Amino acid sequence: MTPRVINAEYIKTKIIEAIGVLSFRSDPKLLNCMRAARQSETSEIARDILDAILDNAAIAANEQIPGCQDTGTLVFFVDIGSSVLIEGHGLTAIIHEAVAEASRKFYLRRSIVRDPLLDRTNTGDNTPAVIHLSLVDGDGLVIHIAQKGGGAENMSRLFMLNPSSGREEIISNVIRTVTEAGAKACPPLILGIGLGANFETAPLLAKRALFQDLEARNPVAYYAELEDEIKSRINSSGIGPMGMGGNCTVLAVHLLQAACHMASLPLAVNLQCHAFRHLGIRI
Ligand code: SF4
Repeated sequence: MTPRVINAEYIKTKIIEAIGVLSFRSDPKLLNCMRAARQSETSEIARDILDAILDNAAIAANEQIPGCQDTGTLVFFVDIGSSVLIEGHGLTAIIHEAVAEASRKFYLRRSIVRDPLLDRTNTGDNTPAVIHLSLVDGDGLVIHIAQKGGGAENMSRLFMLNPSSGREEIISNVIRTVTEAGAKACPPLILGIGLGANFETAPLLAKRALFQDLEARNPVAYYAELEDEIKSRINSSGIGPMGMGGNCTVLAVHLLQAACHMASLPLAVNLQCHAFRHLGIRI
């Protein structure tokens, strides 16, 4: 197959453009979902909070300012075709450069520190980004970019369950994660659930699950029903928007599953707050 050559500077420009769009704009489908949830919300406080979140998102989009002060960690999922050749820098270097330039250009809050313990000075440009590369067939280059805020990320959890754990134990661990998070994760939430795989891959499944199309359903009927049951039971918990009570705690639940060791049943729950900023670009 003839290689497809893509210029590094072109990729960088596209990433900077995308960061500009997603920085000030929440996922439009999420906003529609929140409008619908507002109609069925029974708590007056919850309706007021949803109105405030929707107003805030509109102001951010109109005035091109971040909808939340935490502009997050820049997370990249990159699917690169095996026949793609990048001319110029390597792909990871391009991404880091794009993040640094976009952070300056769009005045994003600088959120990243150099070392978790020994040097918590700010890197000053939101680098390094978190990058997950996957090699796929063909000549495509698809880059999904997200700004992942710290509050919801801090309350996310990994459970290494016993394989004898049943459906009920899985559900109760997910509900416990959301209940313990309460207001700290800034609900209403989207849940990404990774089931199976192993210690490092279950959280990756959960993160990938988050950034699917909001209306996506698991193609396996059993898991699609599990997504529905988790959503319904959490919304009966009464946590509500920003933990102030109500029946709108979770707007969507997405589960991805994978094969695992016969002695293992990993369960990762990645929480995403209502500041749901992500965008996919195809180059
Ligand atoms: S969890 Fe989300 S909404 Fe809350 S402060 Fe962080 S980015 Fe903002």
